[in-house]
Amino acid sequence: MNELLEKNYIDYREKVRAFAEEVIKPVAIELDRKEEFSVELAKKMGEAGLFGITMPRELGGQGLDYLSYIIAIEEVARVDSSPAATIAAHNSLGITPIYQFGTEAQKQEFIPGLCTGEKLWAFGLTEVNAGSDAKGVETTADLQEGQWIINGSKMFITNAASDIAAGITNLAITGWNGDQKELTAILTPRDTAGYVTVPMRDKLMWRSADNAIMTFKNVKVPEENILGKRGEGIKIMLSTLDGGRLSIAAMGLGLAQGAYEMALAHSKVRKQFGRPISEFQGIYFKLAEMATKIELARNTLYKACRLKDAGQPFGELAAMSKLYCSQIAKEVSDEAVQIFGGYGLMRENHVERFYRDQRLLQIGEGTSEILKMVIARYELK
Ligand SMILES: Cc1cc2nc3c(=O)[nH]c(=O)nc-3n(C[C@H](O)[C@H](O)[C@H](O)COP(=O)(O)OP(=O)(O)OC[C@H]3O[C@@H](n4cnc5c(N)ncnc54)[C@H](O)[C@@H]3O)c2cc1C
Repeated sequence: MNELLEKNYIDYREKVRAFAEEVIKPVAIELDRKEEFSVELAKKMGEAGLFGITMPRELGGQGLDYLSYIIAIEEVARVDSSPAATIAAHNSLGITPIYQFGTEAQKQEFIPGLCTGEKLWAFGLTEVNAGSDAKGVETTADLQEGQWIINGSKMFITNAASDIAAGITNLAITGWNGDQKELTAILTPRDTAGYVTVPMRDKLMWRSADNAIMTFKNVKVPEENILGKRGEGIKIMLSTLDGGRLSIAAMGLGLAQGAYEMALAHSKVRKQFGRPISEFQGIYFKLAEMATKIELARNTLYKACRLKDAGQPFGELAAMSKLYCSQIAKEVSDEAVQIFGGYGLMRENHVERFYRDQRLLQIGEGTSEILKMVIARYELK
């Protein structure tokens, strides 16, 4: 595995793996059981440099490339998906659009604080009537005397309600061109009157990640909090999702890798009929298929990252990676549970959580069906 990776990536992987094994894994089962987002863990992840990974050092980031970032998510998801979701959403959806589309003043104001683990920033596209159809957004922002007055609500938002959730990039209707909505992205800090968050509980997956419903009632933010240009909100949000899809793919790959390693280890020690179950053809065929899927997923994802790092178009490959990695996360975690037998269904075994956590990956940041539409459109161009 990874024979073609340069030494800097191998060293970085080892560093993040050590952190994930020593700091994240020991608390994963307990946080999942309590359904608790840990601010303490988020701060430790910040101290370990897991926020602002691709941001320049002058803005408080790590100055690393996208492939490094993806390797970091992969390694965290290899032990637990919830903190991987916190990192992926904050880096790809929280920080990146501010860096890519923000003014110099916005970058200086927002980004350094978001690289430390003391504050998280969210991305607000989804609403009750705007899921796959992003243009279904109904939140409005009216410009009155130099202030945006925001009204509406957002749904399922990651990193939105914990004590360190600092605000959201909010997609809102700022006007109409005939029957077409003018959609604009607006940086909306949380410490603003009328901004209310309600944590979403009883999730199947990502139980120790922070997801919330949020409502805005006459929330006032300064006119200069517009991100990019007026009317370019959809472009900003969709191009942010291209990069975000790579991080969801990395979560699928890391989850599959973790599930596979657990199943492999278990198959060597679990004996039935007087032999380790790994010696039965029914099991070792499963292991072969799992390993092959992971290898193919990794190659596709890393190729997409290298294209992005080289400034080449990567949108189609990002969609393919997200589609494929999320699919194999489902298949590999399912087979891992099968190899564990009844023990794989018990909460004390990490593999049970992996089987639940993978389910979001075929839905968030573009469902598998929508991704197939995206890929087909590229192919038919
Ligand atoms: C845990 C979690 C975290 C999330 N975090 C965020 C976040 O931080 N920010 C954010 O903005 N959003 C977030 N989301 C929202 C997520 O991106 C949406 O759930 C996703 O885009 C799908 O939208 P939906 O759930 O409304 O499903 P729908 O769009 O209602 O889709 C339902 C089904 O219909 C299918 N479908 C829809 N349209 C078509 C079509 N044209 N052709 C074929 N099939 C179609 C879909 O594929 C799906 O199977 C999060 C969601 C979850 C569950």
